Amino acid sequence: GDEEVDPTPLPLSSISKSFLERRWNDTTPYASKMKLQSWFQLPNGNWELGKIISTSGTESVISLPDWKVLKVKGECLVPANPDILDGVDDLMQLSYLNEPSVLYNLQHRYNQDMIYTKAGPILVAVNPFKKVSLYGNDYIQAYRRKTIESPHVYAITDTAIREMIRDEVNQSIIISGESGAGKTETAKIAMQYLAALGGGTGIEYEILKTNPILEAFGNAKTSRNDNSSRFGKLIEIHFSETGKISGANIQTFLLEKSRVVQCNEGERSYHIFYQLCAGAPPSLREKLNLRNAEDYKYLQQSNCYLVSGVNDAEEFSIVMEALDVVHISKEDQENVFAMLAAVLWLGNISFTVIDNENHVQVVEDEALFSIAKLIGCDIGDLKLTLSNRNMKVGNDNIVQKLKLSQAIDARDALAKSIYACLFDWLVEQINKSLAVGKRRTGRSISILDIYGFESFDRNSFEQFCINYANERLQQHFNRHLFKLEQEEYIKDGIDWAKVEFEDNQDCLNLFEKKPLGLLSLLDEESTFPNGTDLTFANKLKQHLNSNSCFKGERAKAFTVCHYAGEVTYDTTGFLEKNRDLLHLDSIQLLSSCRCHLPQIFGSFMLTQSEKPVVGHLHKLGGADSQKLSVATKFKGQLFQLMQRLESTTPHFIRCIKPNNLQSPGLYEQGLVLQQLKCCGVLEVVRISRSGFPNRMSHQKFARRYGFLLFENVASQDPLGVSVAILQQFNISSDMYQVGYTKLFFRTGQIGVLEDTRNRT
Ligand code: ATP
Ligand code: MG
Repeated sequence: GDEEVDPTPLPLSSISKSFLERRWNDTTPYASKMKLQSWFQLPNGNWELGKIISTSGTESVISLPDWKVLKVKGECLVPANPDILDGVDDLMQLSYLNEPSVLYNLQHRYNQDMIYTKAGPILVAVNPFKKVSLYGNDYIQAYRRKTIESPHVYAITDTAIREMIRDEVNQSIIISGESGAGKTETAKIAMQYLAALGGGTGIEYEILKTNPILEAFGNAKTSRNDNSSRFGKLIEIHFSETGKISGANIQTFLLEKSRVVQCNEGERSYHIFYQLCAGAPPSLREKLNLRNAEDYKYLQQSNCYLVSGVNDAEEFSIVMEALDVVHISKEDQENVFAMLAAVLWLGNISFTVIDNENHVQVVEDEALFSIAKLIGCDIGDLKLTLSNRNMKVGNDNIVQKLKLSQAIDARDALAKSIYACLFDWLVEQINKSLAVGKRRTGRSISILDIYGFESFDRNSFEQFCINYANERLQQHFNRHLFKLEQEEYIKDGIDWAKVEFEDNQDCLNLFEKKPLGLLSLLDEESTFPNGTDLTFANKLKQHLNSNSCFKGERAKAFTVCHYAGEVTYDTTGFLEKNRDLLHLDSIQLLSSCRCHLPQIFGSFMLTQSEKPVVGHLHKLGGADSQKLSVATKFKGQLFQLMQRLESTTPHFIRCIKPNNLQSPGLYEQGLVLQQLKCCGVLEVVRISRSGFPNRMSHQKFARRYGFLLFENVASQDPLGVSVAILQQFNISSDMYQVGYTKLFFRTGQIGVLEDTRNRT
């Protein structure tokens, strides 16, 4: 009878006596009980679970759901795990660690709102796109007391706290994943846990309030995420000896400032603009001469003003309250809003062409007057700055009139710089408020929420920087994992040389080598006045073609073989984005402003003409100053970040988005698979597979399989029983290793033993 086969689920650790008896007494012929499960890939790429009915030669007959029966070639089939392993909470418990098994296991859990799963040392979080009841104080307490042990952000955060206190070593929680995968939400969940356990001083409340502020100024609606972070963030939370939060520090990376002046159809600029327009009280509106979002060109161009389910006016009051909490004075807040209004009005500046060479003059209208008033400068100066350029040729000053496209670029550059400086200033104010008395205490937990690997149809400078960062983080990840594995093998007396690890050092060299690496060549070309995106691309081909991670492409493109796959970059705009120039005229204008600007930008501007000052690396770099390029500055930040992370015990969370529609309940296998690849989960799986991922203590092994022995070995010790089992079943010696306490198996071996066991 087929029905009563396999009383699952069966806990791995123990077998009930009655089950064993039934096994022994069951006389059903072996063949009719064989239900080997196998994965079969459908033409659409999805995998289906089938049962092998018969096998002859290289062909098998497999029955799939919906009564389909197919004859297929053996190589189309991938072994599936026994049912007892359905939905295990650590992928490493799977006997077969192949792609469909991993995908299926995550999906099985996801369907039951179990969005968290471990993959060895990593936590995988699949975005539910709906409220799941897994959070809040009861859960926090349960994880604290360890009455719940299923994987969770709380559990990983708890481990971080315990290890910090036990080892007096700084910890880090490194969160990555694609846009919309849930990084920022995950970071907030971790912060919530830290605040609940380390709270008491009140500073935890301030720390939580930095989230609405940074999201208002640094997040925007994009086609992929209604609340997409357009910057990377590291928050370092410090603890006192008694385990209470004593302060925090935030570092941000690479804000996407182009969004201020331009974004795609259906997307929005930064939330704060819409919040201000919708929520400013009447007196503020009047003071700033504020209009509706619809009246500003910068906000008009993408034809999108609202985010579904979000009330911008309400959000504005939340942000104002949060600004109070982090001690930003009402006066400073008003100055910030004035700067925002000035940025919006800048977009409305228009030009008239005054000659047949396309030279322009600024139109004297409400936009011009409003800006002059908001930033406190002379109208005439503003007009000149927006339409002329002062150049030094030798010792002479030459004034050059701008052409229309140049004037628009200069205007937009000014808007972007003001916004970027405002953002940095805010972060600095927040840091002052959260200031840690004593630095580097050995008791801190850092949470990194940074853009994951990106590969689009068209990839530009931003993807180039982001993917470079991910390449560095991946190396950090690999090395950590390697160390962990190695430690475990050594501890149990296993020959770890048999474990292969892949390193991405070659790809990092491609980026970082001097003078012939991607970054050096980019900087070199950026300093040439005649350098263009095309000459840059050609130079890459000329110097890097022999590098195994590099491929020259047609015209202005090149391809990099990243750990997560190949990405082709289009060099259009690379040089300009890397130079990121603000003209000296604009800088002078900003420095000369009465009222708020010098206060907000003062320190940055003073350092402008001098040597680089660490921390304020030329916030407003000018064409004439020897300013650091964007890529070099980013590389510096990244090195500093890696240095900080190196001194911490890392904990990794990989966020996965199961569909591109931001909708609940939809799990697209192909999409998930691609992300598992990009964020290194499959690599962990692969590493494990090349080692001995399945481990079982001698006791457990002897208990589970001892009854299969022909000879009575009841008197022997567990290790003896284990070895006897391995010998009796002729398990090839390179498929396992015998450790002091455990047996280590290659992937699949436990499955083979399970099959044998179930047939017996
Ligand atoms: P980006 O790189 O664009 O900033 P992200 O990875 O930070 O993306 P989030 O903003 O954290 O993505 O998440 C996107 C959305 O997914 C959230 O606004 C929320 O609606 C939903 N979401 C994410 N995680 C959870 C969760 N644990 N529970 C419920 N909803 C979630
Ligand atoms: Mg985010």
